[in-house]
Amino acid sequence: MEFVHDTLGQRVRFGSGKAAVMLASEIEERGAERAMVIAAPAEQELAARVTAAVPVAVRCDEVVMHVPVDVADRACHSAMAGDADLLISVGGGSTTGLAKAVALRTGLPIVSVPTTYAGSEATNVWGLTEGARKTTGSDLKVLPKAVIYDAELTLSLPVEMSVASGLNALAHCVDSMWAPRTDPINQALAAEGIRALSEGLPRVANSPRGLAGRELVLYAAYVSAVAFASAGSGLHHKICHYLGGAFNLPHAQTHSVVLPYVLAINAPVAPEAERRIATAFGAGDALSGLAALREELDAPRALRDYGLKRDQLHDAAIALVEVVPDSNPRPLSAADLEALLEAAWAGTEPRTLLPQAVAATTFSQETTAR
Ligand code: NAD
Repeated sequence: MEFVHDTLGQRVRFGSGKAAVMLASEIEERGAERAMVIAAPAEQELAARVTAAVPVAVRCDEVVMHVPVDVADRACHSAMAGDADLLISVGGGSTTGLAKAVALRTGLPIVSVPTTYAGSEATNVWGLTEGARKTTGSDLKVLPKAVIYDAELTLSLPVEMSVASGLNALAHCVDSMWAPRTDPINQALAAEGIRALSEGLPRVANSPRGLAGRELVLYAAYVSAVAFASAGSGLHHKICHYLGGAFNLPHAQTHSVVLPYVLAINAPVAPEAERRIATAFGAGDALSGLAALREELDAPRALRDYGLKRDQLHDAAIALVEVVPDSNPRPLSAADLEALLEAAWAGTEPRTLLPQAVAATTFSQETTAR
């Protein structure tokens, strides 16, 4: 075993119904007096509740998915004009993303209060979109200094979005198994994320107002994001990142749809990762574990349902072939990627990719051997 592992430093406070109190003490401890609160219109009520006891100087509600540069510019201007000394984000990944864009330019610290399972709060990755091109980078300035998890804030997240967002977290875990900086530590976190999500997500879907399931998924979202931040972007994230930026597809739903196809194309040639994923699901093989969970959750199925056009797939495959990570368990041609995109676009059974990926026998031998 030989590896180099960086652990990102941030405080995590977790307590249902405690966000307002935890946030107030976090802000007091940091000595902030002029906070800027960032929350999308749908998150305003949650933000008002959570920031009631905090000195707020500026509020910003112009939140747009994938953080367009002009939106980031205006938010930076508001922060500076209002002489803000700290950023508080209350919302999903888009809201956290805007806070990160402001932090990147101003150096202001972020305290993040997530209300979805996207996990951006636990990473040092920022993203900005200009036209149809999404650029990402990593910088410690954008890593929130503290994260406040309160599962009560997620009770209002509709089941459909909860499922998609939870599967986004699951994608962090699965992709971590073969991402460029994968190592035993982030693989252990990823396996724990898969275990907790496969137990928690059905509970959320069946009982959306039940706190226990929400807590489990929120905890899993954090663990998953820590694994992802450490392991980096694997094939799955490269594909979704490109599709999201180029075609403005909804983030969580895109991840939900694409994941089984990436698993189908990689698992047969990554037996150790496949075994860990299967074990975490408590399933005979990784694909079956994911399929059973997706079935139970009635997960998003096809990219065509989210606005992607079939005639966009070929060019997307050509662009993606340039960004397949060297760490991917198998090299992929543009034709392989087009087959993957075609299947994800149509919502075809993921196992249909297996014979094109490698001889199906390799896969069945692995699973039989286990
Ligand atoms: P989102 O933040 O766009 O939220 C989806 C919708 O749900 C929005 O309308 C939002 O206002 C609403 N919402 C959020 N919380 C709610 C709640 N509790 N109740 C009711 N409505 C609620 O979606 P997302 O999937 O959380 O985030 C997607 C964005 O996050 C993408 O831009 C993606 O690139 C980014 N992201 C970044 C990282 C990273 O490490 N940098 C990781 C994951 C996601």
